[in-house]
Amino acid sequence: MNRQSEVKDIVPDLLNKIESTYKDLVENDEVLSSLLKKNADKLAKAQDEQDFAAKIAECLSEAYKEHLSGDTLPNGQMYYNIANRIIPPTMTGSYQQISDYCCAAQSALNENAGISIKAQRAPINTDRINGIVNRVSQKPFDEIDWILKAPIENFCRSIVDDHKKANADFHYRSGLRPRIIRKTDGKCCKWCLNLAGTYEYSPGMDREVFRRHENCGCTVEYDPGNGSKRRQNVWDKSWSFVKNPNTKKRFRFRLDIQFFAGKERAEKWGDNWQEVDLDEFLERWAKNAEVRETEQKVEYQTPGSPYIVSVDKNGDYVRLMDTRLPGKHKEKKYVDADGKDAHNVVENGKTRGRSKSEWQAATHFKFKKRR
Ligand SMILES: [Zn+2]
Repeated sequence: MNRQSEVKDIVPDLLNKIESTYKDLVENDEVLSSLLKKNADKLAKAQDEQDFAAKIAECLSEAYKEHLSGDTLPNGQMYYNIANRIIPPTMTGSYQQISDYCCAAQSALNENAGISIKAQRAPINTDRINGIVNRVSQKPFDEIDWILKAPIENFCRSIVDDHKKANADFHYRSGLRPRIIRKTDGKCCKWCLNLAGTYEYSPGMDREVFRRHENCGCTVEYDPGNGSKRRQNVWDKSWSFVKNPNTKKRFRFRLDIQFFAGKERAEKWGDNWQEVDLDEFLERWAKNAEVRETEQKVEYQTPGSPYIVSVDKNGDYVRLMDTRLPGKHKEKKYVDADGKDAHNVVENGKTRGRSKSEWQAATHFKFKKRR
């Protein structure tokens, strides 16, 4: 008799308990109930899908935590043949619930956009499940139990991303021009900040936009309503404007497309802009800041400080604002990298006003390249 078969098979009982606790947690969770209601009312947004996935992950981790420990497992270890009969079925259950949620949300989005295409279901990522099974079975459980927390959340959130990708891909193949919008939750890292923005979907695009590190709360959005159709119009129009020599009109039109404004500005003027290291810049001007996010910017402001560090999500640049400067227009309140009013420049002992491009150069700072 080998050691494994001496051990009583604890798996069926354990699996039962985990599944029943999980079911209880999910069914009695108020956040999940209200998110499900939103979806039933066809009102769920990308953020709701992320919140749903995160909450499902929390319930699963909680159910694991309640029944799995060094004490309940033989020799304090979740051997492979235990892990492999408990983790895959339970994670698959969560996948199914999240996938159902995403498909219902996507159906509503398609319907609202007047696209009669069935929502696509993204396949389950079994590699990730196998990875978790392997890792959790390799060490004493009490040393490795964290695997059943952040990696589970990451797995669940990624299901939402996979659905965005699958549906954008299907729409692309159907002749639409999907756009993927990645937003940070404003609390995430520089990597995510750099990834935030709008991307034209194509099967060969850089897949980094769909990647998600642990503890990342960012959203990857694909809404055919403000994606394919409207963006397609945007492109149609801008093509016709390119043909049209009426550049003034084109410029005004461009200003309306706020998504592209930042990036364009950085490309157009960026050469003579100063470079700053974003971490150092934030440390200097917005230590322990509160973070706000708008469609185009992430703003950092230390409570009580007059300074706001404003990071453009599409253009890879940052600006600094002194809210004490007079004037109604925000644009007039931007200052140089040392926090000084940048309207004038002293040249040969004389003070004169800066030209438009000198002003741009003095108040926009590019990020120093990562690595
Ligand atoms: Zn993130």
